[in-house]
Parts: sequence; C-alpha cells; structure tokens
Amino acid sequence: MTQYVYRFGGGVDADGAPTDSTEARNLLGGKGANLAEMANIGLPVPPGFTISTEMCTRFMNEGGVYPDSLTEEVKQGVAHIEKITGKTFGDAADPLLVSVRSGARASMPGMMDTVLNLGLNDETVEGLAKTSGDERFAWDSYRRFIQMYSDVVLQLDHDSFEEALEIAKEDNGFFTDTEMESQHWKALVAEYKGLVEEQWGKPFPQDVNDQLWGAVSAVFGSWQAERAKVYRRLNDIPAEWGTAVNVQAMVFGNMGETSATGVAFTRNPSTGDSAYYGEWLINAQGEDVVAGIRTPQYLSKAAREEANAKPLSMEEAMSETYGELTNVFDLLERHYRDMQDIEFTVERGKLWMLQTRAGKRTAKAALKIAVDMANDGLITEEEAVARVDPMALDQLLHPTLDPDAKRDVLTTGLPASPGAACGIIVFDSDTAEHRTEMGDDVILVRVETSPEDIHGMHAAKGILTARGGMTSHAAVVARGMGRPCVSGAGGLSINNETKLLKIGDRELKEGDTLTIDGSNGQVMAGRVKTIQPELVGDFGVLMEWADKVRRLGVRTNAETPQDCKVARDFGAEGIGLCRTEHMFFETSRITAVRQMILAANEAGRREALAKLLPEQREDFRQIFEVMVGLPVTIRLLDPPLHEFLPHHQSEFEEVAAAADVGVETLKQRANELHEFNPMLGHRGCRLGVTYPEIYEMQARAIFEAACEIAESSGEAPIPEVMIPLVATARELELMKDAVDRMAEEVFAEKGRRIEYLVGTMIELPRASLMAGKIAEHGEFFSFGTNDLTQTTLGVSRDDAGRFLTQYVDKGIFPRDPFVSLDVEGVGQLIELAAERGRATRGDIKLGICGEHGGDPASIAFCEETGLDYVSASPYRVPIARLAAAQAALAKRG
Ligand code: PEP
Ligand code: MG
Repeated sequence: MTQYVYRFGGGVDADGAPTDSTEARNLLGGKGANLAEMANIGLPVPPGFTISTEMCTRFMNEGGVYPDSLTEEVKQGVAHIEKITGKTFGDAADPLLVSVRSGARASMPGMMDTVLNLGLNDETVEGLAKTSGDERFAWDSYRRFIQMYSDVVLQLDHDSFEEALEIAKEDNGFFTDTEMESQHWKALVAEYKGLVEEQWGKPFPQDVNDQLWGAVSAVFGSWQAERAKVYRRLNDIPAEWGTAVNVQAMVFGNMGETSATGVAFTRNPSTGDSAYYGEWLINAQGEDVVAGIRTPQYLSKAAREEANAKPLSMEEAMSETYGELTNVFDLLERHYRDMQDIEFTVERGKLWMLQTRAGKRTAKAALKIAVDMANDGLITEEEAVARVDPMALDQLLHPTLDPDAKRDVLTTGLPASPGAACGIIVFDSDTAEHRTEMGDDVILVRVETSPEDIHGMHAAKGILTARGGMTSHAAVVARGMGRPCVSGAGGLSINNETKLLKIGDRELKEGDTLTIDGSNGQVMAGRVKTIQPELVGDFGVLMEWADKVRRLGVRTNAETPQDCKVARDFGAEGIGLCRTEHMFFETSRITAVRQMILAANEAGRREALAKLLPEQREDFRQIFEVMVGLPVTIRLLDPPLHEFLPHHQSEFEEVAAAADVGVETLKQRANELHEFNPMLGHRGCRLGVTYPEIYEMQARAIFEAACEIAESSGEAPIPEVMIPLVATARELELMKDAVDRMAEEVFAEKGRRIEYLVGTMIELPRASLMAGKIAEHGEFFSFGTNDLTQTTLGVSRDDAGRFLTQYVDKGIFPRDPFVSLDVEGVGQLIELAAERGRATRGDIKLGICGEHGGDPASIAFCEETGLDYVSASPYRVPIARLAAAQAALAKRG
C-alpha cells in the first residue's frame, strides 16, 4: 500500500521518506521536506505530518476522491501530534489546534492556501481560553479561524468578513485590532457565524475532523486555482507536480507581549549583503506580517537605526530569543549552503521554526551571494556558476537611472525590488495586461497586491504599492520576477474608482507617466534619463568563473556598430549573424534599393547596386573595425524583395526620378512582385540564384571592407559569408562559386589576400536531410532555428502568437517552440545535420543563430549536440555565457 502521510518532529526521523534531498522534496514538497529536515537536525519545530504530493496528483486524477487508507494514515498523523503536545484534537478541555498549509516542490510564495487555528469550535474555544489563561487570545484566534476557513475552504465573500470587522471597530470607537477585547471578539464570532450561515446555507462546521478534511481538500484544490496556474506558466512549473499538505501543531505568536512572529532572510535578498534581514511583529500571527495590515518592525537594531524607525527591533526587545534565532540562521545557512528564507514564531518566550527555504532573490543578490559563498569556501566556484539563473541576469543588463538626471521626486517608499522602471500609471492588473499588449510600458499602482495580481505584475514594467513591507506579497513576487518595485509608499492616496493617484498636493491620473527606482524607493513624476550599467564586480567575477568551464563559443547577432560594441563589451566572441537586409532599410539608401528591385532588367539592377556598394562597404568596414580579430558571419540578403517596395505615391515618385522611368510602370512592376506566401517565396538564396548581381555586390563590399581594415589595423577580420535558406547542395555550390570569384577579383585588385569562409544556414528540413551533400560546398553551418522551427512545424512564425499560448497551456508544447527549441522534433533535424555534415567535412564549424541561441534550455541542447558556438542578441550574450557554462557542468554530471 502506498504511504501518503509522513510524520515529523518528536524524533520520528524521516518516517520512511526518501533520504535523498531531491527525492524528499519531490515527495513532501519544499516546505514538508525542510520541516522534517529541521526537526531532524534538532531545531525546535512544532510536530506535524505531511500528506505527499503523490496524493495531490491522485486526488486531481480521481476527481477529488481519497483512497480509504488515507483516513487511517491521517488519524495516525493527528495521534502523533497529540502524543508530543499532550493535547487532544477536538478536546473541550485542552484542545490541539493545527495549521494546514500547502507546499509544492518549487516554492510559490502566496499562491496557494493556508488555514490557521484549525480545531476551534464553540466548545474548544472555551478550553483554549482556560489553558492559555487568556480569553481575548482564544476568541481572537477563533474569529481568525472562521474568517480564514470561510475564505479558503468555503470560498465565501472575503470582503463581508473584513467589513464586519471594520464596523465592529468603528462601533466601539477603535482604530486598530489590538484595541478589541475578548467580548468584542466574541460578538464578532457570533456575527461571523451568522455570515457563514447566510452565505453557505449551513452553520459553521463544529466537527474538527470535518474542518480538517475540508482544509486538506481546499489546499489540494488550490493547486488548480487560476493564480497558481498563471504562476506555474510564468515559472515553468509542470502541473503534474502537485502540492503537498502540511498539518502542524499551532504555536501562537499572538499570546501577548512575550509572543511574536516574523519572517527573515539570512542575507539581504535585494542586495545580497551579508546581514540578517527581516521583519517581525509582537503579539501577532504569521499572516499579519506578510499581509501588510500592521507595519512590521525591523529585526536588527542596525536596520531599525538605518531606517530611522521608532518601534523596537527584535534585537532590542527580545535580545535572548534574537540571539537564539540568529544562531539558527547561521546553522541553517551552513546546513543548506544557501541563503534561507525563514518563518518563525515566539510563543511566550519560546522560539519555534515554522519554515525554511532557499530565499528568492534579485539577480544582483544572487550574484553577490554566490560569489561571497564561494569566496568563503561554503560552495565551490562551479557551484556558484550553477546557482545563478542565467535569465535573471537580464535584470542587470538593462539601463538604470542616470544619477545625474533631474528627478521630480513625489515621495519615497521602501526599496522592495531594485531597478528602475518607467511607464504609464494603471490601477488594476487587467488594465496592466491590456495596455502592455497594446505596446505601452506600464507601472501597476495598487494599495497592496494580492496573488490575484500576478498577471498584472508580470505585464507591468514596475510595481508601486501604498502598503506592505519588504516581505509583502508585492515585494517577494516582484523580486522573484525581476520587476522593480517600491512598496509601502505611505504618501500615496489611491482612488480606484476615479482612477486618481494623489501624492501630497500632486494629482496623477491613469495614463500619466511615472518613474520608480526600486533601489532607493523613489517615486518620480515623468520619465527620468537612464544609463547603461557597468558589468564589473561580482558580475565580472562570476562570468570569469563561467568562462573557465564553458566549452561553447558565444557570438552575437548584430548589424550595427553600436550593437556590436555592446555585444563585444558583454563578451561576444564574434558575430554569428549579421542580417544585411536591415542595412537596406536605411533612409539614405532605400530609394536605391527600390530602384534595384523594380528594375526591368539586369542592367537596371546593376546601376542601382553600384549606388549601394559604397554604403554596404562602409557598413561592413565599421563592423569589422569593432570586431577586429574576431570572426564575423555576414548573411547575404534574405527577405522577399517586396518587403522593400514603396507604398505611397511620393515614394514611387522618388524611385521614378532616380531610375528615370514612369510611376505607372513602377506600380505595375510592384504588382507583379506580389507573393501569396512570401515566407516560402522568392527569398534567401533564391534571390542570389535569380539575381546573382545582388550577392556579387554584397560579396565585393565584404572583401573590399575586409582588405581596408587589414590594411589600416594590420589585423584582418575573418569574414564568414553565409548563404541563407539553402535547400539543395547545388544552390550552395552556385553561390559559393560566385562569392569565391568575387573574392579573387577583389584580392587581385587590392594586392592582398585575407582568410574567409563560405557556409550556409540550415533552416529548412531538406537542408538538414541533405547536410552531407551540402557540406561538400560549405565550410560552416549555422542553424537558423527560427525558420527551421517554422518550416518543420508548418507554423508561421509571424502568426503563431494567436494560438501558441493555448498549445502551451494544454501541454501540446512544453514551451513556445519559437522561444525554446523543440528539442524532440526540430532538435532531431539539428542532430542529423550535424552528424551528416561532420561525416563529409570533419572540421565543419557548427553554430546556431536563431532566437534559441539566447535561451538556456536550447543552449543546453547545443552543448549536448556538440555545436561549436551559439549566437545571441547583444543583451543575451552574458546569459548565453552563463547558460553555456551551466550546460557544460550539467554534461559533466
Ligand atoms: C533563422 O531563421 O533562424 C534566422 C536566424 O534567420 P531570420 O530570423 O533572419 O530568418
Ligand atoms: Mg531565417
């Protein structure tokens, strides 16, 4: 019989759970595995049990039905807690209360449900009042329980409970919850029970076992909640993983002034600084800290002083327990060899650990923590390289606010997630998503965010909230996503009805522009100037370590000298794809390009091409100058010619004047060029085959520029001339002959030779299949996986957006195949072409230049297949360097 329940605490060891930490996490979820682990290493953990993730999967597959055996297992789990605590579940005299929490394999902060204080009813509340000697506490706990249970399990209207609480406070003339006495809570409980009966049609469940099963099912069910699905999609978490359920004895942070609750990170999750970082509240329960209802206090004295805050830090108010807590921090960091995110409770002076997990952190913090830990010998350099998510580097590569720029600072909040963001103000998540789809940059402005805002936060460039601390939902989620966030900006007054934001005497409306700086908490009117970040310090160190283990070369896709410079500064080792068509669009030459396309014959085309030659030569000269000494792959013209055609009368007139022909003739010629399916039409090498003079001009420009640079710098560039969209060996043979002929002509004219290669893109299935023959004429292959994906899947790369999201949601593709390579399908064509190409030409150079060249999962595939290099857009170069290093480490095993 499958075991579904695993107990922890009270010295039960692993209770049959796997000893391998990954397997344990897969079965028990992150929270369950870590609770068991903390208990095993002797930390104070309230006893409990975990119902495994396997049960969740089974529960989902079998339509919400549990196996009979689970009833008995849960009973034993409860008995285990009863034995250790000496309390009895449902006992009127000395009741055991439990928490019921979710916990998936990967942490999903705030995404799924939790129920606290479970086990309270009309009888046990009296018992709790007696045993605790604190009637107020007992009734406060009961009202919290009814409120939470009604929300999470019964799914009743959350706001009506909040409203009842607000009215109760108002009626009594109170401002805060702490002013409520036991009789007030008692009255509110009666009111809450009335609300339940009214909305649910039945009285609030008094049987504690019914309560428990209701909560367990709700937590399992929350795996399928919309917000959990969105979070999984954004973080590539498979639906079949499921969540575990943790049932654990309650400990109380709300038992008066010697009790407290808090959350802490063992290092600063924004900056990575090695300083304890966290928030706590005296006389409160866990959810109070993260929910932003009360403003939490600082953990350490230094942090309180730095923030100039008044309420005492934990270090000052409970110095002994604080000392105990920081010892636990150190122990957990050493044990897990990573920065930890911890939840704790102090019940009448006794410290309890409720959770530990690897803390979510910004890219900046991830880098600093990895480098610091390696320097301290806690982890190796290679582990440091493996720890940093390559995609997270993206946060560091983009412009930051210019420190010298003028700032119209409206107010300052907490620096919750670093980075600068600028965009128009929106007040709700649906609008954030909608405006982003329309091409706007938006700043999502909320009183506080909830897990329902996950899609809006993802769409937004930045997040600004009026409430919530550094560990509020907004802050944690924004850091995880890499979105800049300023939280708890108290100076904001937000009116969601009128869509107005008031800051002091300034008023802003939806659509107005705002800049936020998540690194110092500033909120500024308008757009503030940005500058390029410098990649030094920890970034540089980690990149050096990555380069030591990396085998794959990393090049860039770039066609302007500026982009080439950015890429070279980011560590690009050459150009993997220079798309020459972009050069044709420049305003200074588009008329000559159009004249070339619309020419009636070869002579007309040659006349126009002669005008383009000096411009192309200058393009290449500038690129070679930046990339001197490095290989530069230049692709000859690829797109269908009609893309360059004139549209407006004035454009036709300009071309007519330049070519000395009539406008009507030109229009007729433009009509003749119309194609029904241009992606599969007269493009790529088909242009070179039918109009050889175009490729001849480009080849001449390349070789003339290369000779010039060799002459002026003494160091020749290494041009790699690339022929696009080849399907047959003969196409490449013809094109290579033309390029070689042009090279010889130029070398003879210039009186010098330079090294160069001619190769092709592999971007059609036929080219993959015929790679053995094609390699007879090409010295390199570069996989154009954009077109290869398009032509293999028969899915238009320009139209796929309309249906691919659904394909991913329904599990047809694990990810968008235009973003992350379809390894299973398209991958086979790459492997096959690599194998056949190498069989013909042992030293054939192999690279990839589709968008996939900057995607870590696709880069791992390139490493597996033994390609020589990947080529990515300039800002992806560091990501590719790190991903290539991780792929090499993973291959080593
Ligand atoms: C490709 O097809 O993968 C490629 C790099 O070329 P382009 O995107 O220009 O078609
Ligand atoms: Mg292509």
